[in-house]
Amino acid sequence: MGGGILTFTQGGRLFGTGKCSGLSGTRQLPMIQKMVESMSQLQEEKGQLQEQLMALQKKLALRESDQQAVSTQLQTQVENLKEKLIGQVQEVNRLRSELGGTDLEKHRDLLMVENERLRQDMKRCEAELQELRARPPPCSECEHSKESAQLREKLAQLQLETEENKSRLAELDLEVHQKTDRLAEVELRLKDSLAEKAEEEERLSRRLRDSQETIATLKAQPQPIKYIIKTVEVDSSKTKQALCETEARNQYLQEQVGMQRQVLKEMEQQLQNSQHTTTQLKAQIMMYESELERAHGQMLEEMQTMEEDKNRAIEEAFARAQVEMKAVHENLAGVRTNLLTLQPALRTLTNDYNGLKRQVRDFPLLLQEALKSAKAEIGQAIEEVNNTNRELLRKYRRELQLRKKCHNELVRLKGNIRVIGRVRPITKEDGDGSEAANAVTFDSDDDAVIHLLHKGKSVSFELDKVFPPHATQQDVFQEVQALITSCIDGYNVCIFAYGQTGAGKTYTMEGTVENPGINQRALQLLFSEVQEKSSDWEYTITVSVAEIYNEALRDLLGKEPQEKLEIKLCPDGSGQLYVPGLTEFKVQSVEDINRVFEFGHTNRTTEYTNLNEHSSRSHALLIITVRGTDYSTGLRTTGKLNLVDLAGSERVGKSGAEGSRLREAQYINKSLSALGDVISALRSRQGHVPFRNSKLTYLLQDSLSGDSKTLMLVQVSPVEKNTSETLCSLKFAERVRSVELGPGSRRAELMSWSSQEHLEFEGSLVQTPSSARSYSSSSSGTPISRSSSIRRKLQTSGKMKPVPV
Ligand code: ADP
Ligand code: MG
Repeated sequence: MGGGILTFTQGGRLFGTGKCSGLSGTRQLPMIQKMVESMSQLQEEKGQLQEQLMALQKKLALRESDQQAVSTQLQTQVENLKEKLIGQVQEVNRLRSELGGTDLEKHRDLLMVENERLRQDMKRCEAELQELRARPPPCSECEHSKESAQLREKLAQLQLETEENKSRLAELDLEVHQKTDRLAEVELRLKDSLAEKAEEEERLSRRLRDSQETIATLKAQPQPIKYIIKTVEVDSSKTKQALCETEARNQYLQEQVGMQRQVLKEMEQQLQNSQHTTTQLKAQIMMYESELERAHGQMLEEMQTMEEDKNRAIEEAFARAQVEMKAVHENLAGVRTNLLTLQPALRTLTNDYNGLKRQVRDFPLLLQEALKSAKAEIGQAIEEVNNTNRELLRKYRRELQLRKKCHNELVRLKGNIRVIGRVRPITKEDGDGSEAANAVTFDSDDDAVIHLLHKGKSVSFELDKVFPPHATQQDVFQEVQALITSCIDGYNVCIFAYGQTGAGKTYTMEGTVENPGINQRALQLLFSEVQEKSSDWEYTITVSVAEIYNEALRDLLGKEPQEKLEIKLCPDGSGQLYVPGLTEFKVQSVEDINRVFEFGHTNRTTEYTNLNEHSSRSHALLIITVRGTDYSTGLRTTGKLNLVDLAGSERVGKSGAEGSRLREAQYINKSLSALGDVISALRSRQGHVPFRNSKLTYLLQDSLSGDSKTLMLVQVSPVEKNTSETLCSLKFAERVRSVELGPGSRRAELMSWSSQEHLEFEGSLVQTPSSARSYSSSSSGTPISRSSSIRRKLQTSGKMKPVPV
């Protein structure tokens, strides 16, 4: 190449006009020619240089564009590498997630769940085994064989499960192998891509080296041009001018070359920049590579740890499975030994069972025999019980008769006619002062004695019993209870309340709502007694309520209470009395009694304006009839209980009554006197009893005679102002009681009493009160001389037939 640039060419543009040919001299001509030639040569050289410069410029531009292209290519390659790196990282992540934690963890979890299940199965097995052991010695062969079969099945199942677990473990192993293979593959791929990258890098650096070499050769080329310019400087003036021009041109060219050099320098700078960029890129690539390597290392490490985890999990699972298997084996051995111990028990059970079977086969026969003998025994027992029952019934009836007799005897011993005194307490109505002072005292050792202080003297009386003021309704009732029950046995009973008005007759018989008297208590007792006997007896209880006023009998339960009733003899010739039209109410409960009493009370209230006064002037009767039938014997009994609240016994003479008041008093005295007569006659067992002397005694005739029982309740006031009437009442009571003391004295008592009362009623009813005489407490007798007229009277009276009950 150097030869081409150094030679000058002929026919350059500066020699084309021929002006130099006008110069004279032959010496000058070859010079000029030489100069022209050198000029043209120079021209040529210049052209060549220009051409070369152009080519160089072109080359430079080409190089520049080349470098541009190379740098862009490198950049795109770096981009590609970056992308690839990202891809690789993603791939690594993917692989990690594919191989990594999740799957292994899943498997590990599955294994753990499986293990847990196995452990629970084991526990269940153990529990069952313990249950088996805890059970008492074999009770039935079926159950044990069933249980052992179940256990065997369970064991087989467990073994199957263990097998399954093993196969699953193998599967897991396989899967782990596959994963490892895939990892190796990925690693290989990574290596390949790294090698590719290294190659690419190599190629790039090679190209960089080439371009650097080219630039170096280009730099070396401008040297020959400098040399040529220096040789031209030695030419002529013309030539010098031309040279100057040429030099100017040369300078221009040099400037151009300087510019080119500047451009070259810039290009070099650019090249350096690009080299710098390349080194930077290289450093980046290195960094990426190191990162890649680190990622790879990490990945390998992770894979290693995963592998280790996996192996550990597998080992643990295997160890656990082995332990469980061992336990299952041990259990199996236990079950087997149990089975072996159970077998003899099973044999004995079988024997027992066979024995029982035989017994069951024979059982109906045995049962029939047993039934037959039991029937026979029962029949015999029934027969015996029947005989005993018959015997008992016979004895019971005999006992019943005996009891009746005994009761009767008891009442008789107490006296068929008894007299009891009751002293009421001092009330507000008694007022205060000396008049209301207490005049009655009692004997602390004898409840039958009462002392009365009358006109400064103490008079004592002895009755069957005396109730002091503090005695309750229940106390009084207890005393009369026996009489009331005898009414159920078919006896007739009369209970009279005797005494002056205000002494407590109505209180004792009727009582108050809160504290009922004998009437209601008697009915209640009858109800309960009847109820007790209801298995053997059928009873009906009826009541009638009547009053006797001025010797007229009225029905207080009737529709027309003012109507006077008659007492008639039964037309059948039995001698019994009856009151046609007297209402009878059947009662079954306390409510019935209350209704009846209320009805009677209402009738009495509408009839009389001053009931209190009226009631003290009339006798009030409650007649209770008890009719019974013995279921077994058909025996019928009828008992009558007459509860009589008598009219006031006070003597009206004191107040000097007249007219109707006097008439009332006469009737009262007459009837009370008649009652006294009748009771005396009865107690002294007289043949004639003057029942007909008053409506009251006539009505109560059949309840006073025969085996009938009578109780006289003598009511007295305790206060000073009433001592006179109290004395009379107590005298009446003592006399009634004393008539039965003995046949002789009885008669004597009877005579003395009757004559006195008689005299009082018949002769001096008003004028000569019996209080004229007083008696000492010890004296129970009266002068015998008074008895003759009464005896006469009684002796002349016709004898009365005892009225049948
Ligand atoms: P009688 O019927 O004899 O005229 P009462 O029964 O009406 O007498 O009694 C007169 C008063 O004395 C009544 O207020 C009554 O409540 C009262 N009384 C009578 N006896 C007693 C007693 N044992 N306890 C309390 N108060 C009584
Ligand atoms: Mg009264």
